Amino acid sequence: MAARILDGKKISAAVREDIKARAAALTERTGIVPGLAVILVGENPASQVYVRNKKKACEEAGFYSVVITMPADTEQETLLEKIEELKADRQIHGILVQLPLPPQIDEQAVIAAIPPEKDVDAFHPENVGHIMIGDHRFLPCTPAGVMKMLEIEDIPVAGRECVVIGRSNIVGKPMAMLLLQANGTVTICHSKTKNLAEVTRRADILVSAVGKAGFVTADMVKPGAVVIDVGMNRNAEGKLCGDVDFPAVSEIASAITPVPGGVGVMTITMLLENTLRAALNAEISAYR
Ligand code: NAP
Repeated sequence: MAARILDGKKISAAVREDIKARAAALTERTGIVPGLAVILVGENPASQVYVRNKKKACEEAGFYSVVITMPADTEQETLLEKIEELKADRQIHGILVQLPLPPQIDEQAVIAAIPPEKDVDAFHPENVGHIMIGDHRFLPCTPAGVMKMLEIEDIPVAGRECVVIGRSNIVGKPMAMLLLQANGTVTICHSKTKNLAEVTRRADILVSAVGKAGFVTADMVKPGAVVIDVGMNRNAEGKLCGDVDFPAVSEIASAITPVPGGVGVMTITMLLENTLRAALNAEISAYR
């Protein structure tokens, strides 16, 4: 039987309506309009698309947003100065530096320069630490989007075998942490994992964050598993696709996310949630 499609666009629409209403209520009560600044260094075409989508989502939610573009040869110091400027800007509640950055810039130094209270990507070590101990200020957008999707689609995590393929700081590791906090039994796989298919076949919930088209094949999936495809790749024809062999795996899985229209949309939705949360926190701080 073909899997149920977990439609990120449909799920997002309802969540974004709620965010928009909460933002409007904040503005009416206090005059504060949630504000997001996105910095894009260089001309990576995929990054340009992501940044455009983030700006559009902000506008639709009634947020204030600015996109700051900097040339590919920007010095690290210049980028840090721009972050310093945004740190003091009271109209800006969230600062996001689009990754990856050009090689002359130290990504970790830039992440550490974003004030934790405006770090809506939740990549700052302080926020990562809060996620580890479970008292987070913000959740990283992609893993949070996956958890939101599971919650809204009534897919239980507690007590189930969850396998995450990928251990990056921005997807794999925090994804595993959130599944663990939801009481899943979690295994993380990576490029040195032995007998990968044997491990993934144990999964009730399988999350792939590898970045290789067609990586997850039907023989790696347990019949009835929930398959979440975080990958964003281009296939041989140049079309956007995930990590999962969608036609074959959707015949085996009980539920599956498509690419596009799956996790990617949820990621931007959770960025809106974090920006709103940052604005609400700023309101609370103003009264202290
Ligand atoms: P990354 O930093 O390149 O991490 C890829 C992970 O995959 C690594 O941990 C790597 O293992 C593992 N891997 C590579 N080959 C493997 C293999 N043969 N077997 C098992 N594991 C293997 O990538 P990322 O930033 O996490 O992103 C992953 C994908 O998600 C990309 O396609 C990216 O574009 C996409 N993405 C999507 C969203 C969204 O909103 N949908 C957001 C962020 C990223 P090692 O650690 O051992 O090298």
